[in-house]
Amino acid sequence: MTEPVPTRPADDPDSSPRRIPSVERLVGAAPPADLEAYGRTAYTDAIRAVLAAIRAGGGPVPDAAAIRAEASARLAAAHRPSLRPVFNLTGTVLHTNLGRALLPRSAAEAVAAVMVQASNLEFDLATGARGERDDHVEALICRLTGAEAAVVVNNNAAAVLLVLNALAMRKEVVVSRGELVEIGGSFRVPDVMVRAGCRLREVGTTNRTHLRDYAEALGPRTGLVMKVHPSNYAIAGFTAAADPVALHALCRERGVPLADDLGSGSLVDLAAYGLPPEPTVRAALERADIVTFSGDKLLGAVQCGIVAGRKDLIARVRKNPLKRALRVDKMTYAALDAVLRLYLHPERLRAELPTLRLLTRARDAIAAQAERLAPAVAERLAGRATVAVADCISQIGSGALPVETLPSAALVLTPGGRGGGRCRRLAEDLRQLPVPVIGRISDEAVRLDVRTLEDEAGFLDTLAALPPAGNGLRTP
Ligand SMILES: *Cc1c(COP(=O)(O)O)cnc(C)c1O
Repeated sequence: MTEPVPTRPADDPDSSPRRIPSVERLVGAAPPADLEAYGRTAYTDAIRAVLAAIRAGGGPVPDAAAIRAEASARLAAAHRPSLRPVFNLTGTVLHTNLGRALLPRSAAEAVAAVMVQASNLEFDLATGARGERDDHVEALICRLTGAEAAVVVNNNAAAVLLVLNALAMRKEVVVSRGELVEIGGSFRVPDVMVRAGCRLREVGTTNRTHLRDYAEALGPRTGLVMKVHPSNYAIAGFTAAADPVALHALCRERGVPLADDLGSGSLVDLAAYGLPPEPTVRAALERADIVTFSGDKLLGAVQCGIVAGRKDLIARVRKNPLKRALRVDKMTYAALDAVLRLYLHPERLRAELPTLRLLTRARDAIAAQAERLAPAVAERLAGRATVAVADCISQIGSGALPVETLPSAALVLTPGGRGGGRCRRLAEDLRQLPVPVIGRISDEAVRLDVRTLEDEAGFLDTLAALPPAGNGLRTP
């Protein structure tokens, strides 16, 4: 016999290749909803792909209903947007990989309004003449920070690049060695300087830089003195930095502008909300001529970078050709404007600005929420994991206040059964849910910090789709 030995008797109809139904028959009985959603062409292609996989697999042939279900699942997966909402329960409130700040609904609605209709983006409604897009937010930024003028660009990295290029191209930029940092996502201060066409003039040492170090470095080749917030990096111990007021006075005396890259840059005093202090933009502008900060870190709006400060310097920044390349879309202005407006009503800010609301949640309230949710979560994870509540520590994230942490509470999911990799598999299944749930693995458990859990109903809904242990099934 040259025939391979069949795994089942040849007369078993289930394993016979002759039993694979025709494409025409399968498409002819397609669920109308699938044809409506995906169209006949895509549906037919999906059926062909499933049949090809069955032939290639060589196993038993599923029945027609199972083949169509597999085609539906493939189509649903292919049509799911790549970028979609998740539950960030990592404990890092401003998580760069998970989209940083969450917009208040009012801001999202403002974005939608200018997206589906024409807008006065660069049009002066009073005169009918051409307008300037930064006009939509500049006055508000100035009012909230004390700046004389401001421009908005794509992100804070762009803001730094633009300031360097506009104020110090082919000149020296004086920076303390303790501030030559890398801020994650490959933003390195020395590299940005080179790209901006500036020459870096390092002063001081890693741990100590004095006013006289700056004084000695300033000269005819100097274009700018730059301070950089060390963000996710802290220097402790035997350290010294030049007194900011004295440094500003020195720069003014020598006629050199002083820029301060704040990174996060808060518009309000976080200490007043019981949070660790972070320099406010207003305070920074009292000892610098120009500042740069992110729109989607502590400010709590969208991705953008804001340059604010002295009018003459901002005018040079605005005139720089790079501004055109780094400018932002109308969506950004709409969202930024809506968020900045919330700051005009400080009494309501904490309730209305998601970033501040989440950061200021009290540990006891978070723990009570976790305790209240635990039974419903346990029910959805029955057979998969046990659920307990434990203290944990949240982080602000995005480089703000790296050594400061916030007491919080987590749902601790401990997978049942034996064998390694159970936590990893549970975390993986949580990531495959209709709305993925992202936590942290530590001490043989998946931990979900509920500080950032506001949509409880949506969370319980998505958990209900979790497959039982050992089941390879994935929800589409
Ligand atoms: C985060 C940060 C940046 C980069 O800001 P993006 O908005 O992420 O581009 C630059 N400088 C400092 C000090 C930062 O903390």
